[in-house]
Amino acid sequence: MVRLPRVQKEITACLQCGYCIDVCEAHNQTPWESVTPRGKIYYITQLDKAGIGLEDKILKREVTLSPEFVDAMYKCTGCGNCEVVCHAKIHLVDFWEKMRDWIVANGAGPLSAHKGMAEKVAKFHNPYGEPPSKRDAWWPEDVERAAVPDTIFFAGCTGSYRMQHIAQAGVRVLARAGVKMNCLGDKEWCCSSPLLRTGNPNESLGCAETVVEKADGMGAKDMVMTCSGCYKTVSSDFGRFYAKVGQNVYHFSQYVEKLINEKKLPLNNEFNAKVTYHDPCHLGRHSGVYDAPRNVIQKIKGIEFVEMTRSRENSRCCGAGGGYKSQFNDFATRIAAERVRDAEETGAEVLITCCPFCVLNLTAGAKMIGSKMKIMDLSQVLLQVTAPKEEKKE
Ligand code: SF4
Ligand code: SF4
Repeated sequence: MVRLPRVQKEITACLQCGYCIDVCEAHNQTPWESVTPRGKIYYITQLDKAGIGLEDKILKREVTLSPEFVDAMYKCTGCGNCEVVCHAKIHLVDFWEKMRDWIVANGAGPLSAHKGMAEKVAKFHNPYGEPPSKRDAWWPEDVERAAVPDTIFFAGCTGSYRMQHIAQAGVRVLARAGVKMNCLGDKEWCCSSPLLRTGNPNESLGCAETVVEKADGMGAKDMVMTCSGCYKTVSSDFGRFYAKVGQNVYHFSQYVEKLINEKKLPLNNEFNAKVTYHDPCHLGRHSGVYDAPRNVIQKIKGIEFVEMTRSRENSRCCGAGGGYKSQFNDFATRIAAERVRDAEETGAEVLITCCPFCVLNLTAGAKMIGSKMKIMDLSQVLLQVTAPKEEKKE
């Protein structure tokens, strides 16, 4: 048994107060105390007391991880809502990832779907098992690929293979502002977020190395992504376990806000609708980007913007993150349905977000409850709003 990582600080800090319970969407789907943040920490404390580590070695005690505990540790979207409400200020998102790394190091994880994803990333460089040669097949013919770009557009695996219309909308909008862009082609490997979130950090090194080396060889100064998961991983995680990319990394919402403020991106058309905004966990709670998407939305003429009761750092997770959707799809869709209900309560007709994976799951949630809510990525809204006036809207 591999020793427990250094988690004494976290388990000692936990007051077992239970503030984290009600905000945990995974717990709301599986109402067992063992799935709550408090319950998981309690279990880990007991494991620690049982002496997994030095004491165990001395006493030659065999302690095994229970499959129920492993299951509970993966019944978590990594949303970070528990961390926001935890008044002991425990860094719970990192803590869950550390514990998953430990579970995998002990051969007790990851779960079947995550193993499959890791194998596909190793072979095809994306968790969907799609051919690397088709990685950039989504690039629209009407947008020029600059040989020496100023900006690298990083579509991500979901944008490249499942939600191509979002990546296409992203580059079309940027092209309208005169941004000279290109992508990494077949060297755009998975950002490795699916590996990092599920306990496979070692496997992610090759992905980071390939992306950093290719990007740095292109001479661009900026990198932009519509995917919030890729944004968090490339901007925060790459430097932790490999190297930072040499570019300034922006989420699409931030880049577009800058372009609008610099008067490079004209908002030609109105978008007449009552809209609300869902904060992707990786962009909001994890990266602190709350204002840029709201500022852009509120610059668009015709929009009536309303906030959901749970917004910004208290936003309800869409249910897709942390490998949760790939292993527990039904639960993930039900969480998304709850989020769509939050949006319905505001009277909005359109729910805008900033991540293809959120769009994918929220759309599934809306379908599950027969909601008429229109789910759109910010890039899709901007594609309509920035169209030349004479061009017919999509
Ligand atoms: S990160 Fe989210 S899903 Fe995971 S334990 Fe915390 S609140 Fe629950
Ligand atoms: S809110 Fe923090 S201190 Fe309280 S039970 Fe949850 S993890 Fe422990």
